[in-house]
Amino acid sequence: MRNTIVAGNWKMHKTLPETHSLLDELIEKLPTGKQTEIIVAPAFTNLSNAVAHLEGTNIQVAAQNMHQAEGGAFTGEISAQMLLSIGVNTVILGHSERRHYFQETDALLADKVNTALKHDMRVIFCIGEELKDRQNKQYLNVIFNQLTDGLFHLTKEQWKHIVIAYEPVWAIGTGETATPKQAQEIHAFIRQEIDRKYDKNLANSTSILYGGSVKPNNAKEIFSQPDVDGGLIGGAALSADDFSAIVNAI
Ligand code: PGA
Repeated sequence: MRNTIVAGNWKMHKTLPETHSLLDELIEKLPTGKQTEIIVAPAFTNLSNAVAHLEGTNIQVAAQNMHQAEGGAFTGEISAQMLLSIGVNTVILGHSERRHYFQETDALLADKVNTALKHDMRVIFCIGEELKDRQNKQYLNVIFNQLTDGLFHLTKEQWKHIVIAYEPVWAIGTGETATPKQAQEIHAFIRQEIDRKYDKNLANSTSILYGGSVKPNNAKEIFSQPDVDGGLIGGAALSADDFSAIVNAI
């Protein structure tokens, strides 16, 4: 069976004191007895503190990005080894904001994925079409190309470290959510393409999360779709009440 996962992407929000307060609230409010994996991704400056703060809890910590090189003269960047050295072994790669504002291409992302996997990290790989792709009915092609160029060079063994997050760009931070039916269509398509490229076993064991304006009032319906294995949550992850309600919806 597949893991269910709810991950909170905090983006460029929360100072260190605010991070501590939100983590305290999450520790108090999040359920402890669920099978679902719970992950938070605070900013780089707060990761190390978050790991220490969450020790002994069921909440894991992920990074929002990393550089593809092992190290070197890359001012302002963070390497896989730096993340591992503070106890962070999951990284979100390919978020649409990274693709859009920082010009991260599928080729670059494939490099980042390779580096993360070389270090046995787990990758939450984001894919998703823009509004124009949906309007032009090109969305399946876009998703297929992102999968092919970002991940389909990997071996089956490496895929065990991959979680996919389908995040339609038009639904991120807009209050606009894909309907459960739209989400299910894409999740099933992604699974079908993994099956086509690899096999059914791998397709059925890969967790595929949905992201894009997931809120307490729509989470249950989205999570109830057969191919949706959880969520990548932005705005609502900044409220302990909302994030716990979303985790409880799965
Ligand atoms: P949102 O963000 O939940 O605020 O739409 C999702 C994301 O960017 O991962």
